[in-house]
Amino acid sequence: MSGAASQLTSATRGEEANGAGISKRDHQLPLLVLGRRADPNSERGVSCTGELPASSDPALVNRAERARTALGDRAFVLGHHYQRDEVIRFADVTGDSFKLARDAAAKPTAEFVIFCGVHFMAESADILTSASQQVILPDLAAGCSMADMATYNQVEECWETLEDLGISDAVIPVTYMNSSADIKAFTGRHGGTVCTSSNAKRALTWALGGGDKVLFLPDQHLGRNTAVLELGMSLDDCVVWDPRKPYGGATPDALRRATMILWKGHCSVHGRFRASNVAEVRSRVPGVNVIVHPECVHDVVLAADYIGSTEKIIATIEQAPAGSAWAVGTELNLVQRLARNNPDKTIVFLDKTVCFCSTMNRIDLPHLVWAMESLADGQVINQITVDPQTAAQARAALDQMLALP
Ligand code: SF4
Repeated sequence: MSGAASQLTSATRGEEANGAGISKRDHQLPLLVLGRRADPNSERGVSCTGELPASSDPALVNRAERARTALGDRAFVLGHHYQRDEVIRFADVTGDSFKLARDAAAKPTAEFVIFCGVHFMAESADILTSASQQVILPDLAAGCSMADMATYNQVEECWETLEDLGISDAVIPVTYMNSSADIKAFTGRHGGTVCTSSNAKRALTWALGGGDKVLFLPDQHLGRNTAVLELGMSLDDCVVWDPRKPYGGATPDALRRATMILWKGHCSVHGRFRASNVAEVRSRVPGVNVIVHPECVHDVVLAADYIGSTEKIIATIEQAPAGSAWAVGTELNLVQRLARNNPDKTIVFLDKTVCFCSTMNRIDLPHLVWAMESLADGQVINQITVDPQTAAQARAALDQMLALP
């Protein structure tokens, strides 16, 4: 966490109550708001005991309810599935990153879109919503370590190398939704598409219909798992591009031969599961079904029974027969919510030593209260904006995804 925790009071302390009932006294309570500024160097995975952090001060719930009422239809609160329960309870809709961005675009009457998720998601929402809507990220330090693993300059350098090798004309870039607006714009500029974990197979099939190779950004595991398990490629058809090494750590010949050039990025949460976790849970929970996210490493996916996007994991477990047992390899907040919402099934986390997503968890109740109270008081804070040129090019890649056959 960057800087020291600071005791902040609402920016409007001392102002008169507004029409929806936020009183002067409410604003005199200090909010402990951590991480008001982004610190890219802090967006790294950490170890934990497998437990979720304690919820924030429950007394803030009343304050959040009053601020939410004060904002009314002027605000639309989006909650990603990996968010804390204390935040999800105030979400108007929940979903994965793309569903939420589309939900926001389908609500043009909402002046403020409060995105309880991470930075790249808020950027996508800003790209897809109208110019009159303002997208708010309650904590600017809520980044994504995977998205940070592919910077604009690194990707441009990679592309220049592919040009020097004379193969860039045969390469179609495909970027996962979990990437910055800059990378989506790069992809749009070079005739590529965005994909999600739900439509990665369709995106790759489309891309390989237009080129001989794919540059897949930034998650090597989703790219590899989709290429090998869904499109029948071999591991030898894939080469990893390490942005810190000349030629990405490969050889010119390997780059010329490869069908999939996989950016060396990964998710700090899903990348920590191991195949040994699958073996361990099978011995511990008789008859257990193992379901994992495609951001997990290839060995884990091979050892599991099912692979699925966040939305597919939820649907699979909700539709599973009562009495069935599931070990789930995805983010801890979601797994614990699934366990609570499906008491007729046994649902366990795939590995107790894997962490919740530390950046998702930065959005806590104090930040949400701070954001909502500020907006209700006429002060726009933590607005996420994408410049028009970047937005237009990124939009082209997003539109291509929507047009995938
Ligand atoms: S779960 Fe992984 S991909 Fe998702 S926001 Fe966290 S670090 Fe990024």
